Amino acid sequence: MPEGDTIHRAADRLRTALSGQPLRRVELARVAPPLPRPGAVVEAVEARGKHLLIHADDLVVHTHQRMTGSWHLYAPGQRWQKSSRAARVVLGVPGAVAVCFSSPVVEVLDARGLARHPDLRRLGPDLCDPRADLDLATHRLFALSTPDRPIGEALLDQRIACGVGNVYRCDVLFLHGLDPRTPVGDLEPAQGHALLGHAAALLRENLDAQRRTTVSGAPPGTLWVHGRAGAPCRRCATPVVVDRLGEQARHIYWCPTCQPPVRRAERDEPA
Ligand SMILES: [Zn+2]
Repeated sequence: MPEGDTIHRAADRLRTALSGQPLRRVELARVAPPLPRPGAVVEAVEARGKHLLIHADDLVVHTHQRMTGSWHLYAPGQRWQKSSRAARVVLGVPGAVAVCFSSPVVEVLDARGLARHPDLRRLGPDLCDPRADLDLATHRLFALSTPDRPIGEALLDQRIACGVGNVYRCDVLFLHGLDPRTPVGDLEPAQGHALLGHAAALLRENLDAQRRTTVSGAPPGTLWVHGRAGAPCRRCATPVVVDRLGEQARHIYWCPTCQPPVRRAERDEPA
C-alpha cells in the first residue's frame, strides 16, 4: 500500500495536468455508466488519505491503489510504460493523458455515493493535511482499537488517521523506541498523540521529496529501519529484524535493542 504522500504527489501532478481542462477521452475498464462525458471539464483532483478522487461532470472517479495500482501521466502519443491491458482508467485532456494501471478499486460515484461511501466516510484525519486534527486522530486510536491491538497494526488503520503506510509506521515507532507489538492499551494518550504528530510531520516533510527520507540530514532515501532487515541499526548497530504483523500480515521492521519488547509480567506486578 503506498504511503499517503505518494497519493498526494500523484494528485498534485494530475491536478496540474487535468484541472480546468475538458475531457477528450474517457475510458474506464469494467465500470458501468454513468461516466463523465467527453467535453466535461475536470473540476478538481484530490487525495483523501490513499484515495484519489477526480471530479468532473457532477461525478467522481474514485481509485484506491492498494499494493498494485499506479497513476501515470503521458503526453498524447507517448508510449506507455505498462501494457494497455492493465489500464483501468484513461482520461485524456488537451496535452495530457492520465492512465491508472492495475488499481483494484475503480468506480464512479455521484454526490450521494461519495457522501455515503463506506471507506471514504469513515476515514480519519488526513495527516498529509497541515490542518489535520491530531486530537481527533488520537481519540480514534484508542476508541477504535481493542486494548491488546498492537500499535504497529493500529497505525495502518485509515479510520484512525489516513496517510500512514508501512514506511512511516515502522520508522515512527523506531523514533519513539516502541516495539511494534506494544498493545495500544499500554500507551498513554500523550504517547499516541506524539506518535501521530510525528508521523504527520514525516509525511509532510516528504510531500515534495523525490525519495522518501526519515533520517533528517541524511542523504535522500535514508530510512531508520524500514526495508533494512539484517542491516545494523543506525543508532546501536543491532541487526534490524523483520516480522509480519496484523491482519494484513505486512512486513514490519524494528530494532530489538532500541525498541525493547514490552515486559508484561514485570509490568503487571503490583507496585
Ligand atoms: Zn538500535
